[in-house]
Amino acid sequence: MTRRNDPSNDSNSGSGNTLTVSCPQCQKSVVWNSENPYRPFCSKRCKLLDLGAWADGSHRIAGEPHMDETELDELIDRLERGQE
Ligand SMILES: [Zn+2]
Repeated sequence: MTRRNDPSNDSNSGSGNTLTVSCPQCQKSVVWNSENPYRPFCSKRCKLLDLGAWADGSHRIAGEPHMDETELDELIDRLERGQE
């Protein structure tokens, strides 16, 4: 019933089906497979937007979940250097 948004429900039921989920950040359809390292997010951007809540304490402002593009780029840059 909730297959569309419950990847664990489908993960062990055969292969060949393309499973898609909704990105928790932007609600875009995301293909759930091993080729998407950012799942369940659609992209690194959305994943980092989510991670950003703890990765950068200065952006942890209640009621303001969004970061602007420049800040996000800087965060990605920092994460990539700091964590491989
Ligand atoms: Zn997204």
